[in-house]
Amino acid sequence: MNGQIFVDGDYVASASGAMFDVVDPSNREVFHRVPRGNSEDIDRAVRAARRAFDEGPWPRISGAERAAVLRRMGDRIAERRDELARLEVRDNGKPLPEALWDVDDTAGVFHFYANLAERLDNQTVQEIKLGAEGFTSKAVKEPIGVAGAIIPWNFPLLMASWKVAPALAAGCTVVLKPSELTPITALELGGIAQEAGLPAGVLNIVTGFGPEAGQPLTEHPGVDKLAFTGSVPTGSRIMATAAKDIKTVSLELGGKSPLVVFADTPIDEAVEWIMFGIFWNQGEVCSATSRVLIEEPIYETLMARLADEARRIKIGHGLDEGVLLGPLVSPSQHDKVLACIERGKSEARLVTGGGVPKGLEGGCYVEPTIFADMDEDAWIWREEIFGPVVCVKPFKTEDEAIRMANDSRFGLGAAVMSADLDRAERVARAFRAGIVWINCSQPTFTEAPWGGYKQSGIGRELGEWGLMNYLETKQITTFDRSKPWGWYLKD
Ligand code: NAD
Repeated sequence: MNGQIFVDGDYVASASGAMFDVVDPSNREVFHRVPRGNSEDIDRAVRAARRAFDEGPWPRISGAERAAVLRRMGDRIAERRDELARLEVRDNGKPLPEALWDVDDTAGVFHFYANLAERLDNQTVQEIKLGAEGFTSKAVKEPIGVAGAIIPWNFPLLMASWKVAPALAAGCTVVLKPSELTPITALELGGIAQEAGLPAGVLNIVTGFGPEAGQPLTEHPGVDKLAFTGSVPTGSRIMATAAKDIKTVSLELGGKSPLVVFADTPIDEAVEWIMFGIFWNQGEVCSATSRVLIEEPIYETLMARLADEARRIKIGHGLDEGVLLGPLVSPSQHDKVLACIERGKSEARLVTGGGVPKGLEGGCYVEPTIFADMDEDAWIWREEIFGPVVCVKPFKTEDEAIRMANDSRFGLGAAVMSADLDRAERVARAFRAGIVWINCSQPTFTEAPWGGYKQSGIGRELGEWGLMNYLETKQITTFDRSKPWGWYLKD
């Protein structure tokens, strides 16, 4: 499979034969090369997916039969747990225990959607009561067609599963375009699908860059639905392209999520979730709680503790024991985050971090960074950085906290911590965000809906909502022939 894309059930050479480097962010060395897919490859993949959808068995077999294949895919991923997790560490930089979570979650996503595929067999037809005599009607759920899936680099295999598993469960066929920064594990899904007995053409994987492979996928007339996770500017471009021929889109975009900490929160708990909320996965998390609002009575104490703990986090290679913060995904992301930090220094007080950790200059490492004392209109408070950088502000009242939390063009995640659960629930309801955590931040469950308000996206992934993304609803209405209609043929 090395050096090939996955099209129509097999690993094949790309049209141009051109390749690009995959870099290990722990040392900036090239450790792999993958095909630089282009519009020809995308066309071939979409045609294969189109054929598999229009003529193949996949959309026509029962949900239970599809479930069996999805389960085998999940099983195979679980069997290759350690190998896939280590590839992820190499490709993305994340610490091994987190990569293992990702692989476990990925296997779980395939198993979860296998169950939903099975359930679909009893749920595809819904009888509808009509107010008109002589007619009966039903709504039938059907797969939407060929899905184009474009994913980012922060959870490479997991993000692939969030789209591929529900699409396959629904009976769709898929063309997947992984991120150019982390294409390796997603490409492995081809072999996994082959072994699981997925029919040829149902899943196709083309590696390559956004403008060269992603754009042709969004433009291709053979694609019925686009599912995208990534940045707001790319999401906006994809939506604009999709508008030309009215493709359905679902978008999971960026965020600048708030975490509101009330003074009745035990300091240890606050430290745990504030740190996990922004430093987990190097802060390269769309829902990372990168804006922390702390109620005034505990602001100074908590800030001092946070600064202390952030300095103690073990930074290093993702395979080293006890490491909590690996390198950022790539040299370009490293440069970008360091530039954001420089900008932050001009408009906020740097509490701790802000540089490259000593002794780790050879990799794409960044110290856990905390900023304070910024204005609400400061760039660093408002814009997504996508790295281990958190901005902290004090607040006086619940209303003020809610106002500040909601004052953002994003609305992906939000979190609140308080010993008073009534208050926590009240604040949770007041957040304008798609995912809200109470007394924690970030734990993500396959069963629950995932997606954003405002510029953080359109639609929901995961849970049964994720399956709906890939289903059309068809109305079938039947007329009772024994009665005349009487519009043209009169009695
Ligand atoms: P990105 O938008 O740069 O790239 C995402 C994907 O889009 C990549 O596969 C890329 O090749 C492709 N792409 C780029 N230009 C394209 C084009 N013109 N047409 C089609 N495809 C194109 O984002 P990224 O840097 O990979 O990921 C980081 C962003 O993703 C952050 O903003 C983050 O918040 C967001 N994200 C969101 C979620 C979520 O669930 N909401 C999850 C993870 C990441």
